[in-house]
Amino acid sequence: MEPMLDAEFVCRKCGKVVSFEQYALDRFCPDCGTFLRRQLKHWVFQFNPAIYGWFDRIKENRETEQWLTSQYAESIRERDKVAIWASGEKAGVYAIGEVVTNPIKRPLTTEQEKYWTNKEDIFKFREKYSVIIKYLKVIIDRPLLEDKCSKDPILSDMAILKQPQGTNFPLTKKQWNRIIELMNQNTK
Ligand SMILES: [Zn+2]
Repeated sequence: MEPMLDAEFVCRKCGKVVSFEQYALDRFCPDCGTFLRRQLKHWVFQFNPAIYGWFDRIKENRETEQWLTSQYAESIRERDKVAIWASGEKAGVYAIGEVVTNPIKRPLTTEQEKYWTNKEDIFKFREKYSVIIKYLKVIIDRPLLEDKCSKDPILSDMAILKQPQGTNFPLTKKQWNRIIELMNQNTK
């Protein structure tokens, strides 16, 4: 596993933020001595409905799902939060979830194989890192659509809107909080 060079660590008692280099020297807060924890990161994971039957699967099964981490495998870690984004005509956020395993190379779980249109894509899981995602909220009936994100002063800067190629995209904490806020407004 690659080191978390861009990770920061935070003291849960006093809030001090410590770099990976400092953490490698001492795993305790330099100010108050509390054990440091890695700061959570936030991500967008994108699927293409023409290639992967995410919508079919989520209607049948809301259990954990295996996702490629073709990008940022060195940064994505257990407990990070993820917004699930569909590409295509009705692009947008359709669920949020949590990463429950660190990225490793493992074959695709057989349960998910049938949802891939192109069976060759299944073999990508043998070559690339992947994680398991647990869904926290699914909003397929009232998604947060791309159009709304593009017009939002905070979300218009999202990495996925600027360069939409790929599976995994970083999100700032501010963007994550805004997604949650808009999702909650949608449910009212
Ligand atoms: Zn501290």
